Amino acid sequence: MIDPEEYNFATIAVRAGHQRTNEGEHSEAIFPTSSYVFDSAEQAAARFSGDEPGNIYSRFTNPTVRAFEQRLAALEGGERCVATASGMSAILTTCMGVLKSGDHIVASRSIFGTTVVLFNQFMQKFGVEISFVSLTDLDEWEQAIEPNTKLLFIETPANPMTQIGDMRALSDLAHKHGALLAVDNAFCTPALQRPLEFGADIVIHSATKYIDGQGRAMGGAVVGSEELVGKDVYSFLRTAGPSMSPFNAWIFLKGLETMKLRMDAHTVNATALAEWLEQQSMVTEVHYPGLKSHPQYELARSQQSGAGGILSFELDDSKMSGKDAAWKLINATEMLSITANLGDTKTTITHPATTTHGRLSPEERAQAGISDGLIRVAVGLEDIEDIKQDLSRGIE
Ligand SMILES: *Cc1c(COP(=O)(O)O)cnc(C)c1O
Repeated sequence: MIDPEEYNFATIAVRAGHQRTNEGEHSEAIFPTSSYVFDSAEQAAARFSGDEPGNIYSRFTNPTVRAFEQRLAALEGGERCVATASGMSAILTTCMGVLKSGDHIVASRSIFGTTVVLFNQFMQKFGVEISFVSLTDLDEWEQAIEPNTKLLFIETPANPMTQIGDMRALSDLAHKHGALLAVDNAFCTPALQRPLEFGADIVIHSATKYIDGQGRAMGGAVVGSEELVGKDVYSFLRTAGPSMSPFNAWIFLKGLETMKLRMDAHTVNATALAEWLEQQSMVTEVHYPGLKSHPQYELARSQQSGAGGILSFELDDSKMSGKDAAWKLINATEMLSITANLGDTKTTITHPATTTHGRLSPEERAQAGISDGLIRVAVGLEDIEDIKQDLSRGIE
């Protein structure tokens, strides 16, 4: 097994975390086993008491899952990674691990719709208070912080408007008040952005997205220090059991090997599409951090090594309602996949106001800047000319 300290990103992505068995296999093995056998009753007792490290049961540890965890931790520059059954369970596991009743979360208003529901309906039910603020307004963050604030939570770039959160400023603010900064890094992956380098304490992933990158499996991960993730977050995971399956861990391991190549290719395609959309008369605005017209272009460049695959744009609503225009465009496409998923080789198109953000109230949607004429595209790896052509059917 390689020591990630001695190698660069692309090498870590291909080789870290792989512990070859006696069979000498070149590709990582899948270990579909629920439990592990001990040499003796003494060893069983030592494993259970924690005196001897090693496998006991796959809710706690599994060799394939561990290989994925070690590789992702090394890619993010974190001490420890805990893999979970989905991105949402990574967020839940983080909350359960680091928060208690009476604590307070300050979260960006521009986060994944289901994360908002998790905070509002479920965390509040257990006595955790939530405030939502604008991702980009640092004064609002400062004002929202209370003595019991324990966690600041953001996504950057945010979905679907691609606003950028200033991770250095927000981690400084969190630490000044004894709180933690958690960054959901699903849109960038460590191939494009490493939040721990900007002071974040916890990095969260939906591995379902770009880590798999091919739309096959559900998974998630939490990365951070040994103290925080290795103790607090892991102890909830091993107790409550939203653990990653070894089959899925294997898919994600292989996904990590091509992640940098894919993220760079997604960025090339999305940049070309964003520039093309800016020239279409029916399109009134394009949101993409790789465009010079993005209000936080410089901040994005200082945090990300590429702008990523996700963009959104707004349609002219002077001739018909924004929703009708958006639905008409989406329905006119023949190749693009109409699905809310993202982070796939296949380009996906969605109408946030009636899908991913449909459970928000109209006021919450307006506050997040999501208009009825907004369309989000997660740009895939097809030929860019074919993607443009498919979109132009509805734009004409
Ligand atoms: C999809 C997504 C999630 C949730 O992940 P699942 O794997 O679907 O549970 C969380 N955050 C972001 C930014 C996402 O895109």
